[in-house]
Amino acid sequence: MTQVLPASDAAIEEAAQVLRRGGLVAFPTETVYGLGSVATNDRAVARIFQAKQRPAHNPLIVHVADRAAATPLAIWTEAGEALAAAFWPGPLTLVLAREPSAPISPLVTVGLATIALRAPSAPTAQKLLQATLLPLAAPSANPSGQVSPTTAAHVVAGLGDVVDLVIDGGPCSVGVESTVVDVSGEQVRLLRPGGVPREAIEAIVGPLLDSVADGPIQSPGQLESHYAPRAAVRLEALQPAPGEAFLGFGYMIGKGAVAARNLSPTGDLDEAARNLFAMLRQLDDAGVATIAVAPIPQQGLGEAINDRLRRAAAGR
Ligand code: AMP
Ligand code: MG
Repeated sequence: MTQVLPASDAAIEEAAQVLRRGGLVAFPTETVYGLGSVATNDRAVARIFQAKQRPAHNPLIVHVADRAAATPLAIWTEAGEALAAAFWPGPLTLVLAREPSAPISPLVTVGLATIALRAPSAPTAQKLLQATLLPLAAPSANPSGQVSPTTAAHVVAGLGDVVDLVIDGGPCSVGVESTVVDVSGEQVRLLRPGGVPREAIEAIVGPLLDSVADGPIQSPGQLESHYAPRAAVRLEALQPAPGEAFLGFGYMIGKGAVAARNLSPTGDLDEAARNLFAMLRQLDDAGVATIAVAPIPQQGLGEAINDRLRRAAAGR
């Protein structure tokens, strides 16, 4: 069984040593738990793809402590600078042109001319980046395609044997993955809705282009079936059908469901994002064939929640 250590200075020091030796460490960020390896080490990065069974064409996000640590890795643009100044550290990933001399394993960027960079704000992630002083490649710490982990127990359940060390920092404060925006070109493009709402980004850089609606696919992983529980998922449900579990929101509580959870009884989208992945897992564990999900408003973190729910419902 993998070693799980509560977040502490000693655990961070141990984790930094595991990483420097080319190991895999799962650690909490504000979005979800990440599966980290040193991004400059080909063999360590290859272990991430193997551990997650991640398709080799899906690039990884590189985590850095701050904007300064990201200088040697990318060619920075005005929009990139503005968004980093507004939202780093935090749940925002910036896609920029890769600096040709950046010492990042080519496996991380799967041969693309761009690189995805993020500075997480969660204290454990920050301390780990400061202890290693190296960029860390870190996708979500779950088998590819399954529901993302928001607790250390979720990580152990999905990847238990293949991670060298898990740092337990409690449940994630945001609960959905980072927003990914492409700031490499003339216009800023939203590649994945996430922990920073679209409205907050548009307040800084103006209206965002949408990746699918307004052009070719630009983010290789974006169309894969993802976040998928074992059960089927039925969206925009007003009430459960016989035998269904129900994931509610606000006053939509799913009376009569086999099992029910409520993402936020008060209709708070931030709370709903925090609860989303854990509640999907809990309802899946009830063994039902279908989880029906109440309608979720498409504003604030609702856009990210609806994106994850659509992908959980799709493609199987
Ligand atoms: P994950 O770390 O699994 O939550 O997913 C990372 C997301 O960032 C995926 O949707 C990737 O396709 C996307 N991504 C990573 N690197 C790049 C890049 N260089 N260009 C565009 N998208 C990227
Ligand atoms: Mg993921």
